[in-house]
Amino acid sequence: MPNSRDSESHPRSQAAGQTEQRAHDRSESAALSSHRPRRLRRTPGIRRMVRETQLAVDHLIYPLFVEAGISEARPIDSMPGVSRLSPAMAAEAAARAHKLGIPAVLLFGIPQQKDALGGESFAADGVVQQAVRAIKDRVPELVVITDVCLCEYTDHGHCGLLNKEREPHPYATLPNDYLLNDETLTILQQIALSHAGAGAEIVAPSGMIDRMVGAIRTALDEQGFTECSIMSYAIKYASAFYGPFREAADGAPQFGDRRTHQMDPANAREAVREAELDRREGADLLMVKPALAYLDVIYRIKTEFPELPLAAYNVSGEFSMLRAAGDAGYLDAAAAQWEVLTAIRRAGADLIITYAAPEIAELLDAHA
Ligand SMILES: [Zn+2]
Repeated sequence: MPNSRDSESHPRSQAAGQTEQRAHDRSESAALSSHRPRRLRRTPGIRRMVRETQLAVDHLIYPLFVEAGISEARPIDSMPGVSRLSPAMAAEAAARAHKLGIPAVLLFGIPQQKDALGGESFAADGVVQQAVRAIKDRVPELVVITDVCLCEYTDHGHCGLLNKEREPHPYATLPNDYLLNDETLTILQQIALSHAGAGAEIVAPSGMIDRMVGAIRTALDEQGFTECSIMSYAIKYASAFYGPFREAADGAPQFGDRRTHQMDPANAREAVREAELDRREGADLLMVKPALAYLDVIYRIKTEFPELPLAAYNVSGEFSMLRAAGDAGYLDAAAAQWEVLTAIRRAGADLIITYAAPEIAELLDAHA
């Protein structure tokens, strides 16, 4: 406003000022009308140059289900193209993934015997421990991440010890089937130690048990596994999208649900607090699970914690619904899968855990 006083005292210069303003407005609108966004969409080469979000094979983590005591792959009906594998077959699959450029696998175990305490989860010769060794023998460069939880190992299918497994009840005010927190932590420590001992570079506690990251970090450090990383399922929602996984990992709860430990899908501010706790407890990487219905949460966590690598789990339900729609001819499943993974990256995920990792790696290779 440097000329405002002049304009008031000299009507003619005020008029000149208005003319100038109109000329400025016209040039602004001329600039706007000459802008044609389609110019930058004209050719594949130009689109490639201005693409804001990259999806590369480096961003993919491939989950594998390893089952004890099987000699043939067992296809999972609810997840087309996905099977349960023996440790030796898992090493084969890992080698194929490595050849495609996928940097890491995430292992889930299905034991032969389940019991109330999930004893096979931390056995030295447990199925995941065997698979870690087999993969490390076969492809030492491939990063091995292991799921650390009890739900596949307990006969009740819950992620830890239940109140009724302890006699006398330590918590008389809690229901029989309440998932005990701190008692579960001591088992999670054993599982993480056995996985690290087998050679896993990263352990991934998935139970949403309070203080699981701190407990595992302490146990790993005390036993000399200071270089073993923790990828925390920091934000895991009680989601209907896990349906097919329950068949895959044989981990459906026999009664009740997981709403006393997994997060309410309606909550996003709470996710920031969960992430902050895990960061303070020593998580090296954070995870949001599921991904597709929680893109806002991924965005929020990346914005709040830009310094921590963030993974997102493109879960079984997200995978299977695209496959089912593709099989029915409703859409192109591979193209839709690429779009979903790109959206997860665009929201802020650095890494994506996806059952479609091999297909997407091939697709990306074909378009490179
Ligand atoms: Zn669990």
